[in-house]
Formats: sequence, structure tokens, C-alpha cells
Amino acid sequence: MSRNSQLVDSHGRIIRDLRVSVTDRCNFRCMYCLPETEEAANFYLNRFQPAADSIKINREWQPQSRMLTFEEIARFVRIGRDLGIQKIRLTGGEPLLRKDFEKLVGMLAKIDGIHDIAMTTNGFLFKQKGKALRDAGLSRVSFSLDSLDRENFAKITGRDALSNVCESIDLAITLGFSPLKINAVIIKGVNDHEVVELVRFARSKGASMRFIEFMPLDSNRAWQKELVMKGNEILEVVKRHFELTPKIPVNASETAKRWGFPDGKGELGIIAPVSEPFCGHCNRLRLTADGQLRTCLFSLNEHDLRGVLRAGSSDEEVALYAQSVVLQKEAGHRIGQKDFAQPLRTMSCIGG
Ligand code: SAM
Ligand code: SF4
Repeated sequence: MSRNSQLVDSHGRIIRDLRVSVTDRCNFRCMYCLPETEEAANFYLNRFQPAADSIKINREWQPQSRMLTFEEIARFVRIGRDLGIQKIRLTGGEPLLRKDFEKLVGMLAKIDGIHDIAMTTNGFLFKQKGKALRDAGLSRVSFSLDSLDRENFAKITGRDALSNVCESIDLAITLGFSPLKINAVIIKGVNDHEVVELVRFARSKGASMRFIEFMPLDSNRAWQKELVMKGNEILEVVKRHFELTPKIPVNASETAKRWGFPDGKGELGIIAPVSEPFCGHCNRLRLTADGQLRTCLFSLNEHDLRGVLRAGSSDEEVALYAQSVVLQKEAGHRIGQKDFAQPLRTMSCIGG
């Protein structure tokens, strides 16, 4: 494939990884994403005043007519494949809320050259859908699990669903999803005391425990750097309890730094976009559920792919449009800089 027929940005980065959000809806209300519970409000209010326009941001769901259909998503993935996309991650909102989601997985799995279809989920509906997803060709699953304490889990996610999510993780293992990943966002004063237990839990399941730094993408606009447990702080805590061996990255675009354990059980991954940005080798493009292309989680602009698809454009025209969008990919995010501005849409709408 020549460089001309790939998705290459103006900094020379080649896009291989497409993240597709299939819905902006969610059945959880995580305090770092879509906070709505009294506990979340109190936690934030005790520390600082959220922005006055906060609650407006994410309470207006997009109408169904604006959501890309499965056919539109599959068409763009096929065009993306011809431009060098190799990996697809399906996310949301909560992807399992999208009706007949397994049909989309089946359609994508049939596209030659897409070797890896992964999903990020809160796991709540996985028991109903797991087998159908496996049969449809889903390769990998990442579960979000921020606490192993029932009350703390409910406080963080707004739902009393810890046992349900743990059962989903067990089912995923039985169904043969491997390697299984468990994601946790660690917030100081909320779940920073659970880091070691989360590592133990993931190891007991043979899974990779991945800690993600809290990013300024919450609907309350309440993020403060003081709340972020930095990657190196997490690493220090884990090192006090486990011997760790650094793992060599499989490819240069890996966002997680990874470590193994001497007994070979499980893995530790730390994703530190705030304290150690990895923008320089980012190979991602994002597609929102309502068909907007985003070149970065923190982009302030979106690009209306839905309009291009629905205007009757040919595959070649869509490909040229995608290439022109990728050329506008930002050099990096500006978290921590004076001019940083949080995107209007939150993580749940962009697709994490
Ligand atoms: N609902 C699914 C889930 O929670 O796994 C998929 C969508 S969620 C937006 C994808 C990932 O983004 C989750 O692992 C979640 O923990 C993470 N996330 C959400 N808001 C975040 C924030 N403000 N900072 C860092 N990670 C965040
Ligand atoms: Fe939580 Fe994911 Fe829903 Fe956000 S989209 S509220 S992270 S479950």
C-alpha cells in the first residue's frame, strides 16, 4: 500500500486504529464520565464548584435519525480497511445498549483484512449478549471495573451492579475471550485505596489490569489535576506488593506501558495520557455514534462524515474526505497548558 492510499497525518503518523462509538446512551452514571448521583455531586461539591453550565452538556441525547446505521458503519470500516485500518474497537456510551449490536460485529468480522474487533463495555448486559458476540466474531473485550467494594462501586458508577459485572467477567473467560482486559480509572479519595486489590483480582482471572488516568472529559466539567492518581504513583503502589518485569511494546503505538509478574499470571498496564502523553505515536481515529470523525479525544472540531456518506458520495470520495480529515490531526492534546479547553462532548459521547 502506497503512502498516498493510507491515512497519514501532517506529522507523519499513520492511522491504523479506528474507534467506533455505537451509541451515546449509557445505563451507568460513572462519576468521571456522566455523573448524576448525589454521592458524585457531593464528592465534587466538597472540593470545588463545577462549571455553571455543567449539567447541560450531556443530557441531550442525539436523535436516532442521526445515528449511523450498521450499513454506514460497515461501509466506512471497509473504506478504512483499504486505507490501512487494521484494528476496530467498538465502544460508546455503552455499546451493549445498541439494539442488535451482535449483528454489527458479524458484519465487521466478515470484512477481510480487519484482524481485530474489540469492545469496551461496563459489562452490565454482557451475560445476555456474550455468547452471541463471540459467535459473531468479536475478538477481545475490555471491562470497566473501578472498585471491588459493592458500596464504592455503586458510588462510582451510580449502579449497584458489582456482582453482575464480576459474573460477566467470568462468562467472558468461559467463552474464551483472551487476553481479557479490566480497566479502572483511579480518582484520589475515591478508589485509590483499591489499586492493589484490583491487581490481585485481575491476576486471579489471568487478565490484564489497566489503570487509566482520569482525563478532563467528564460531563460535570469537574476534573481537577489534584484528583488524578498519576501513572507513576499507581506504579509505586503496585511495586510495593508485586515484583514487576517491564514488557516490550508489541508496536510503537501502544498507549499502555505494561509489566508482567514472575508467576506469569495476568499483567499490569498503565495508561497515563495526562502525566505522560503518548500523542507523538498516536495512530487513532474516532467515529462518534452520530457519524462525526474526531482526530483526537480532545479535538475541539468534529468532521461530518455522516453528511458525506448521506450525500451519496462514492467510496473514493469518502476515502478522500477521511484523508483530508486525518491531515488535520492535532500534534497532541493540551491538558495542563494555559490554553487547554475541554471538548464540548464528553467521553460517553465521543467514545472512550
Ligand atoms: N461504557 C463502556 C465502558 O465504560 O467501558 C465504554 C465507554 S467508556 C467511555 C470507555 C472507557 O473510558 C472506560 O474504560 C472508562 O473507564 C473510560 N473513561 C470514561 N470517562 C473517563 C475519564 N474522564 N477519564 C479517563 N477514562 C474515562
Ligand atoms: Fe461509565 Fe462507560 Fe457509561 Fe461512561 S460510558 S458512564 S464510563 S459505563
